[in-house]
Amino acid sequence: MTMAMDCVITLAAPGPLDPFRVAAVTEAVGGTFVERLSDTAQDIYAAGDPRALRDAALTVLADDPVDVIAQPVASRAKKLLISDMDSTLIQQECIDELGAMVGKKAEIAAITERAMAGELDFAEALRARVALLQGVPTSAVADLLADVIVDTPGAREVIAACRAAGIRTVLVSGGFTAFAEPIRQRLGMDAAYSNILLTDGDVFSGAVADPILGADAKRVRMNAECSALNITASEVVAVGDGANDIPMIEGAGLGVGYRAKPKLAAAADAVLRHTDFSTVGYAMGLLRP
Ligand SMILES: [Mg+2]
Repeated sequence: MTMAMDCVITLAAPGPLDPFRVAAVTEAVGGTFVERLSDTAQDIYAAGDPRALRDAALTVLADDPVDVIAQPVASRAKKLLISDMDSTLIQQECIDELGAMVGKKAEIAAITERAMAGELDFAEALRARVALLQGVPTSAVADLLADVIVDTPGAREVIAACRAAGIRTVLVSGGFTAFAEPIRQRLGMDAAYSNILLTDGDVFSGAVADPILGADAKRVRMNAECSALNITASEVVAVGDGANDIPMIEGAGLGVGYRAKPKLAAAADAVLRHTDFSTVGYAMGLLRP
């Protein structure tokens, strides 16, 4: 049995929200108050269990391209945003793009896909892919960052809003520091944790430093950040897309899947299928008229 809580249900769409659809959702969830956040986002206040309210809203919306985040009003304000990098803060998988430099993108991407779906052991799958990168020039990283790696729309704005609100932002990645550190800098985040690709002169050696930062390490990092900030996990929003994000997503007060693989989507409080990273900012109550 779950207790009825005062909840806020944030609806977000890639384009203007249809007021009739918002009204239908409001009725379905027994909403008492609707607040416009922008042309594309609205809050609805209602009492109930957050996941039940989310599912009721999604049922009404059916095939409409609208994302739904439902959460208790009392824990909406966050102190920490922690996010995965590849396919979450950026739109690519860096390891696949490094593989492209030596004609191995398809081979590596096939393993990445299975690892992110949770079909392979993360560390084993990472080592297998990194071995295929032996001989890739380290200069490829700068080229990819300049020409291929694209930030997810909205990410920079949400991180800036976090900074303005005094919310710490942390990148935690099973990918590589060679990418994570420059991406942390260009997004304006406070810290980044990831794996280290080992080098041999000016090429990658095909090995990754131990211990590998995998799913458990992401959760451990989140908990350590909470301890350092003297906050509880309820004050954390975590965002990710792959199976290695599941423990972190489950542990956070608000766990959000971004274009999530099915296993992560099942574990997340909310899934962004249609809208960009700005919806995380709307959900946090940071982006307002
Ligand atoms: Mg990812």
